[in-house]
Amino acid sequence: MTPIRIEAGCDIGCAQRSSPLDALETRMLLMHALGLTRVQLITESERRLSADEAQRFTALLQRRVAGEPIAYIVGQREFFGLPFLVTKDVLIPRPETELLVELALERAPQGGRILDLGTGSGAIAIALAHARADLQVSAVDVSRAALEVAQQNAAHNLAGRGNAIRLLHSDWYRGLQAGERFELIVANPPYIVAGDTHLSRGDLRFEPIGALTDHADGLSALRTIVNGAAAHLMPGGWLLMEHGYDQAAAVRELLIAQGYQEVQSWQDLAGIERATGGMLPRAGHRG
Ligand code: GLN
Repeated sequence: MTPIRIEAGCDIGCAQRSSPLDALETRMLLMHALGLTRVQLITESERRLSADEAQRFTALLQRRVAGEPIAYIVGQREFFGLPFLVTKDVLIPRPETELLVELALERAPQGGRILDLGTGSGAIAIALAHARADLQVSAVDVSRAALEVAQQNAAHNLAGRGNAIRLLHSDWYRGLQAGERFELIVANPPYIVAGDTHLSRGDLRFEPIGALTDHADGLSALRTIVNGAAAHLMPGGWLLMEHGYDQAAAVRELLIAQGYQEVQSWQDLAGIERATGGMLPRAGHRG
């Protein structure tokens, strides 16, 4: 492989042509290296790179070619139309997870209390709070480093809106108060089976392993979440979870075994059953 080297004096157009990456990724890294907007890249295409800028851009290209996710290199990823800071301490928000936000928004009652388990960057919780100022959103994570990222994302995306989210250090439900209940619980837990080859490919190699896999059959976190939810859901409350491409039937079984109603799965934009949920029975309406 030829070493990547963008020379000082090369202009923006030349830097783009010299990149080994596709046009979109090249543009993202160039904007990041030069501190320019997309429009400026076009209007200033003949601007020449200083030695510093050329070196910075070269270093970013090298990281990307070595496989590092673009979101970690630029430190940001968009989710549900909002910008999220991402670091190596959090999973990069995925477009398919927007499905979970949409499902939660459809089911969250006015003024509802929402719990996001394993919030990571805070993407789901913050998207919900941003979309619906009436909701009271709590978000937990076992990783303190992730909670710091979520805190920054909440401050940035919810500033001055009056519905800050509550962030709590907790291993699933353990840090909650006994008897504390919510109208809706949502989770995108680690669900990849231990040893799955996807873990050693692409972006996943760089992401926190504990956010990706349960180091077991892929269902252990989902099981913990389903089995503990009844103690923290209001009657008639919904539990919604994201899961792997082949786990929908297993997750429906977990919910049915716990007596949930209206148990169903929903497809993501790729047509894969990606989320499953159910409603805790209202008192007196069993069966
Ligand atoms: N959807 C992610 C992936 O397969 C995994 C996210 C997760 O484990 N919750 O790339």
